Amino acid sequence: LLSKLKDPSLAIDKALIAGEWVATSESGNTFDVTNPSTGEVIATLPDMNRAETVRAIDAAHTAQKAWAKKTGKERAGILRKLYELLVANADDLAVILTMEMGKPLAEAKGEILYGASYVEWFAEEAKRVYGDTIPGHQEDKRIIIIKQPVGVVAAITPWNFPNAMLARKFAPAVAVGCAMVSKPAAETPLSALALALLAERAGLPAGIFSVILSTDAVSVGKEFTENDKVRKLTFTGSTAVGKILMRQGADQIMKLGLELGGNAPFIVFDDADLDAAVEGAMVSKYRNNGQTCVCANRLYVQAGVYDAFARKLAEKVAAMKVGDGFEPGVNAGPLITDKAVAKVQEHIADAVAKGASIAIGGKPDARGGLFFQPTILTGVTSDMKIAREETFGPVAPLFKFETEEEVIAMANNTEFGLASYFYSKDISKIFRVAEALEYGMVGINTGLISTEVAPFGGIKQSGLGREGSKYGIDDYLEIKYLCLSV
Ligand code: ADP
Repeated sequence: LLSKLKDPSLAIDKALIAGEWVATSESGNTFDVTNPSTGEVIATLPDMNRAETVRAIDAAHTAQKAWAKKTGKERAGILRKLYELLVANADDLAVILTMEMGKPLAEAKGEILYGASYVEWFAEEAKRVYGDTIPGHQEDKRIIIIKQPVGVVAAITPWNFPNAMLARKFAPAVAVGCAMVSKPAAETPLSALALALLAERAGLPAGIFSVILSTDAVSVGKEFTENDKVRKLTFTGSTAVGKILMRQGADQIMKLGLELGGNAPFIVFDDADLDAAVEGAMVSKYRNNGQTCVCANRLYVQAGVYDAFARKLAEKVAAMKVGDGFEPGVNAGPLITDKAVAKVQEHIADAVAKGASIAIGGKPDARGGLFFQPTILTGVTSDMKIAREETFGPVAPLFKFETEEEVIAMANNTEFGLASYFYSKDISKIFRVAEALEYGMVGINTGLISTEVAPFGGIKQSGLGREGSKYGIDDYLEIKYLCLSV
């Protein structure tokens, strides 16, 4: 890893706890981080637990008070500097990301710039935490609304976007004057450490941001939810774990931000621009090798264009290059773990057993390891596992539908409500369908919707709260109402 970096100091094997870089855990335990493309160990890190978590929370609790007193402009200045450092070091940060997570280097760099865009955005928003005045309800009353940081925020983040998922929690939290204690996924902690180092270099005071390294997510999660110095927990990951954390947080009525699983429908109507729909499906389905919570999980294609869409999509998929993210031209890296490969295989086997056909792919890649062939299934129906569960892999299941009514019912027939997509040129239909889809986000004639300027988030069991945009800052603020008698 070190030989690939212009600035080797960005490859860190210590946790950042309470303002100090800590090389060993109290238990003395360690864990390895491996490159999913090669299986090689790229770092050995201290494996921490509740004791270190408590230390980080205590420091955050103390440091947050002074941080909240700074002006928005002062906090904005530090975040702005961090944004510049992220951009200046984007190549190195992308190398670290590809090394620990496997995605193609170009996509990794895209993620770094995407993560940085949240830091830039919330640096700007730090200065705009406006309150309000309300005309009093009695002659002598003056009503003033102020917004204050919630306090210490705990963050738990997943491996699929090791930089961006943390950056978009960290940036709004520190922008408004919160302190954050984070626990990145044990598969991909190095990107979080590099972010923390750059934040330190940008001038973030000690204790405001800690990164706990741990394979015992259960214990760290318990401390995060049971420690009453933590006022909010923000989590991106599976719905199953989101439910556990919500239950745990109930005892102290903890504020929660939850970005959970999805089961995104991608609908292609007969009147769609078919080439644009194929392009959108490629981006939405195969980006990050299908391992994003907004990836198209169910592709519904209207009967009149079903065969043509399947053929065009297969042509594109056939041209994909699977391989190590550092190889030029690769656009599909490995899956993250053996478990992920097994889930993809299980979904394919179940669909085939129930009558689906494999149009292309369907098997582990010839390279072995965690590589899997980009796959298209045709003749997929609602009784198959793939219709209900998030596959999180490079499999595009094509369902055939006849009417708008039918496809909306199928699209909404899920407990999830994160992203959805559809393609049509009929303006009336566009509004009808966009309003009928029970999702937090709707991509219309586009397969790529993520941006820091818009609110990212889901409804139903896909989560609580929004990240990014002017709405995203509210998740880290409390409203206080002052009633003054004059
Ligand atoms: P996935 O690994 O499929 O992305 P998870 O929800 O299992 O989804 O993991 C997301 C994050 O949640 C990771 O950082 C993981 O370590 C953490 N995590 C997993 N289980 C728990 C738990 N019981 N309590 C707290 N955090 C957890």
